[in-house]
Amino acid sequence: MNREPDNLSSYEKPFIVPVFLPNIGCPHKCIFCNQTAITGVKQKIPSPEEIGLQINQFLSYKGKNRSPVQISFFGGNFLGLKIDLITSLLREATKFVIEGRVDSIRFSTRPDTIDYERLDILKEFPVATIEIGVQSMDDKVLCLSGRGHTSADTKKAVSILKERNYEIGLQMMTGLPNDNREIALYSAKNIAAFSPDFVRIYPTLVLKNTILSGWYKKKEYTPMPLEQCVTLVKDIYLIFREKKIPVIRMGIQASEHIQRESAILAGPYHPAFGHLVHSEIFLDMASFIIESAIEPDIKSGEIDCCDSIGIKVHPQSISKMRGFKNRNIEILKTRFHINSLKIIPDFSVKKDKVGVIPIRRLRRLPQIICSSIT
Ligand code: SF4
Repeated sequence: MNREPDNLSSYEKPFIVPVFLPNIGCPHKCIFCNQTAITGVKQKIPSPEEIGLQINQFLSYKGKNRSPVQISFFGGNFLGLKIDLITSLLREATKFVIEGRVDSIRFSTRPDTIDYERLDILKEFPVATIEIGVQSMDDKVLCLSGRGHTSADTKKAVSILKERNYEIGLQMMTGLPNDNREIALYSAKNIAAFSPDFVRIYPTLVLKNTILSGWYKKKEYTPMPLEQCVTLVKDIYLIFREKKIPVIRMGIQASEHIQRESAILAGPYHPAFGHLVHSEIFLDMASFIIESAIEPDIKSGEIDCCDSIGIKVHPQSISKMRGFKNRNIEILKTRFHINSLKIIPDFSVKKDKVGVIPIRRLRRLPQIICSSIT
């Protein structure tokens, strides 16, 4: 799980013990979804014994990690399962909480499965966190994506979960059919207005054996190009960041299975998608500083330029500043006619900030300027 810069939230990153329930409990398959294609895990409800073994095995990887431990049921629609199954899964997970080896339980579910009756079932179990697949706050996008619920269902679900004091995670997608930049930003603003405890952002990918893959093959659906998607997700990320809502994941998790099985037919996939987003934020910050220091010479029509500049960043932010394969460095050099650009590690610069210093011949750039984009 990606953790966002530490000054943004009080969200405490848990150690997650995953129990994957691929598409289990789903009333139907949404047009883009194929959990088995992403993970390679076959659709099968694990027995309580299997779950116990799985959890024990995962806990053995924990080492000295002192963060809270949560068992997470994900990959399906948890509250869409039969009540007997919900309780038997929770009972098995609760044993580990009683033993003191796990702190609490979390699961992901659809918005239209959340009601008082179902939440009453949870009362006797240590469930702390519930994640909802919101995907979009636009009803046409939801309808075309075969979600089978509306934005009103999400609104109602969030309000019930808040009443019951659960930690709430909301997942949204970009690039679904009929979605566009404007609608995606509208969705993000609406999701941010719910003040969830954290969010995840997933660009739509064309996975094999989905309805969407058929549309793609018939040229009825065109996925968003990677660069455009990175910029859109960056702008969405900044909406959440402004509200101090942690974004704990951007893009699906890279896995050997995905690469080996060629599960993704098309779409803005990158194994380090979140890194691309953060890199673009750092590029914007550095560009903003340099640009505001460089004024065009009106008489000659030329812009002020410098031979060499240094960009100070926290050591943990160096790769974000450099960008994937040093892309940011090359862009800045070309954009601002810079001959040499050095990244200078500096612990005094905050992790989400950038400082720029002129090294040689930059007339209007002050000695050091820091910037962070909010
Ligand atoms: S997106 Fe969620 S609800 Fe839809 S099929 Fe996939 S797991 Fe089920």
